[in-house]
Amino acid sequence: MEPKNIWQTVLGEIELQISRPNFLTWLKHSELVEQNTKEGVALVSLPNNFAKEWVKTRYHKLILSSLRTIDSSIKNVDYVVSTRTAVPPSVKTVPRASAQGALTEEKSQLPITELRIDPKTNLNPRYTFASFVVGSSNELAYAATQAVIKHVGKKYNPLFVYGGVGLGKTHLLQAAGNAIIEEYKGATNVLYITSEKFINDVVWAIRNKRTDDMKKKYRDVDVLIIDDIQFIGGKTSTELEFFYTFNALHETNKQIIISSDRAPAAIPTLEDRLRSRFEAGMIVDISNPDFEMRLAILKSKNQDQGWNIDEKILHTIASKVQRNVRELEGVLNKVAFYQQYKQETVDAKKIEEIIGEVVQVASKNITANEVIKTVADFYEVSPSDLTDRSRKQEVVEPRQIAMYLLRDILKLSYPHIGEKLGKRDHTTAIHAYEKITKEISQNPSLNQKINLIKERVYKTV
Ligand code: ADP
Ligand code: MG
Repeated sequence: MEPKNIWQTVLGEIELQISRPNFLTWLKHSELVEQNTKEGVALVSLPNNFAKEWVKTRYHKLILSSLRTIDSSIKNVDYVVSTRTAVPPSVKTVPRASAQGALTEEKSQLPITELRIDPKTNLNPRYTFASFVVGSSNELAYAATQAVIKHVGKKYNPLFVYGGVGLGKTHLLQAAGNAIIEEYKGATNVLYITSEKFINDVVWAIRNKRTDDMKKKYRDVDVLIIDDIQFIGGKTSTELEFFYTFNALHETNKQIIISSDRAPAAIPTLEDRLRSRFEAGMIVDISNPDFEMRLAILKSKNQDQGWNIDEKILHTIASKVQRNVRELEGVLNKVAFYQQYKQETVDAKKIEEIIGEVVQVASKNITANEVIKTVADFYEVSPSDLTDRSRKQEVVEPRQIAMYLLRDILKLSYPHIGEKLGKRDHTTAIHAYEKITKEISQNPSLNQKINLIKERVYKTV
């Protein structure tokens, strides 16, 4: 099927699931630019940065699942701003946003290829130090990263950066990767990977008897950057594989940079020998930005994007949005959207409204299938192992956890849960829910696993 036809089919499906005005506003001018790259990524273009961010946050899961029903080898979807995509007349007079979001005509002419993630390194050129604000909450992490860039493999190895969601870990790690490539003019092989993708690779390689290829891929690099390592904990086969890879690289003075949402000591599912390897390197944290820094970040983005948002508004946002940088950005983008595109005045009431919306988005649009898939991924089984009648021992725990989470997160009825997970009786679902509820309070490791799964479910991709 042609990308055009595939996209028609996907849109047809989505149109049924979201409101007409939303569909027209956000998706009407979308296109499927590339159906499926070697890495299994479909590329969707949108006419401007707002549409891109909006579609990515609100409709990503819908789009991905719909594409996958047509082509199951698609693993992810990337979004780009394309100047080729038709733009509605009302927006045409306004300069469009580029990948960096800069509202300049010149940058909006960038060809799509320049906006792409480099398939060799997985690095996104958008993450640079030029757009990274350094302040009290991240200055140590920043300094350590700079030292690593200067003395690759020789100074802090591994460098372990931890901190909560949306505080800039991915930005810092990717900026480090980009800086290393620039500094050494491509003589250094950098590979960025999320632990999620690493896990998939290992599982795939084991299933397909291709572990040698996988080993080569990971051990051939000079700088390995692993993002969100906390998801590795608790999975024996991937953890072991990572341990060997880690040792192989470390022994040959290759640089390893790791991020996690918590310190190594606070990942109880992590094996001790891996934890002590991490602790032998440099550990730095990123904490929540204080008011000064939040304001600095807002000012910097406001300037980079050429938005002219009033200083007073920036103050209000900086004082009200305290949790993380991602939310700060989300609120700023929306304010800009109302101001620049819709030419509305953004008053105090409107800001409150926008903050409410942005902070809520995270928990919306979760479906039962996503919960089941996340549990299955965590336990390295396939979702169908959980949804069919299999009595295999290794799926008993994941299935019970899936039942528990469908009740806990989505408040589904017990008969519905039983039906969904292997056509079982509602009493089985009740039993699972009660059993897990009880065990959570007695078993810290189970509690930890469930928290990790929940975080993953809530994580906006
Ligand atoms: P994490 O990986 O810790 O969850 P990200 O790196 O994804 O967080 O950051 C979330 C968003 O906030 C990104 O768009 C990132 O560019 C931005 N951001 C985070 N920290 C900073 C900073 N210090 N300066 C500028 N932008 C930042
Ligand atoms: Mg991240």
